[in-house]
Amino acid sequence: MKRVLIVDDEVALVKSMKNFFQFKGVDALIAVTGEEALDILEKEKDVALVITDVIMPGISGIELLKRIKEKDPAIHVIVMTGMLSIENTVSSLQNGASDYLLKPFSSLDYVWEVVRNYL
Ligand SMILES: [Mg+2]
Repeated sequence: MKRVLIVDDEVALVKSMKNFFQFKGVDALIAVTGEEALDILEKEKDVALVITDVIMPGISGIELLKRIKEKDPAIHVIVMTGMLSIENTVSSLQNGASDYLLKPFSSLDYVWEVVRNYL
C-alpha cells in the first residue's frame, strides 16, 4: 500500500486523519506547513499521495501543489478546500490536483471514499 502525506495547519485534523488512515491500513505521514511537507518529500521517496489544506501560514496549498508537480508529476495531490471557496478548488484542479475534499468533512468515511481512488 502506498504512503500518504497529510498537510494541514490544524494539528487535531491531521492527527485524526492519520489515525483514521492507519486504521484503514494506510501508512500516513503528517506536516503542519507546506515547508515541512516539502522537507518530508525530500527525505521520504515513497509518498504516492499528498492531501493538503489550501489556506495555511507560509506557502499555500496551491503553491505546495505546484512545487510537488514540478518535482514529480506522478505524485497525486488532493486539496482540502472550504465549501465556499470554489476559486481555490478550480485553481487546484487547473494546477494538477487529482481531486478535492470539501471542508468541514461530513465524516471521515467521506474522506475515504475520495482518497481510496488514489491508493
Ligand atoms: Mg488551514
